[in-house]
Amino acid sequence: MQFAKSSAFWIDTHCHLDEFVVHGGQDYADAMRADARRAGVAHCVIPAVEHSNWAASREVAHRWGDSYALGIHPLYTPKAQEGDLAALEVALTESREDARLVAIGEIGLDYFVPGLDPARQEHFYRAQLQLARRFDLPVILHVRRSADRLLKHLREVPVCGGIAHAFNGSLQQAQAFIDMGFKLGFGGALTFDRALQLRRLAEQLPLESLVLETDSPDIPPHWLYVTAELRETGTPQARNSPAELPRIGEVLAGLRGVSPDELARISSANAVAALPRLKPLLEGALNG
Ligand code: ZN
Repeated sequence: MQFAKSSAFWIDTHCHLDEFVVHGGQDYADAMRADARRAGVAHCVIPAVEHSNWAASREVAHRWGDSYALGIHPLYTPKAQEGDLAALEVALTESREDARLVAIGEIGLDYFVPGLDPARQEHFYRAQLQLARRFDLPVILHVRRSADRLLKHLREVPVCGGIAHAFNGSLQQAQAFIDMGFKLGFGGALTFDRALQLRRLAEQLPLESLVLETDSPDIPPHWLYVTAELRETGTPQARNSPAELPRIGEVLAGLRGVSPDELARISSANAVAALPRLKPLLEGALNG
């Protein structure tokens, strides 16, 4: 697909915009989304995290002309009910005709946060991969010290690709995801000078495999980051927002030696390749 060359067209492939409504109210969230649009963020993909926020994710996506995914996040598996999987199947059936539903997510495995039952996480992950197959939808993956295990299940329950979000694994693991039709999501973590391994990865991977994301309100880029020391003295962590995406994109463009406009064009095309249901939505946005 063709993107306008003159003005950058950025896609935030991962932001939890419904949380802005919860934290700051509707007016605050509307203003935040408008800021991001002015900054060139034409589209946001809003992944859900648990049964109770599916409706909100759908609602904000419709309100702002964005898109959403439905799923159960690994960090929410302790309180998820077995019946949530059946409810997800019902919700996906209901949203089948909804053009703004673009994926199943956020799903995956987290082996970093202590206290999560690995078997329970895998149960929910695998069941949602089965749903992705049944509904022929890509998946948005949460990968945290879990790449090999995620890949193992994907080999057994293959899906039509998607995005490995906030990717921070090895080059070899990245290649395995790419071979299975995935793009890799890069965001604020990349903006820290000390993130040497992550930066090297972002430099080495094929440009066609990269998508951009903020994961807002989490993962602030370095220019918003408040250190642990300052937080102890009462300064709150700054809230990340999709308006930061173009600046994150500029950092990645610098690492890759391409212009920000070029990176915006390529990463947007990559997002559409990973989430094909974005295509008709963005054509509308471009013509409008
Ligand atoms: Zn997320």
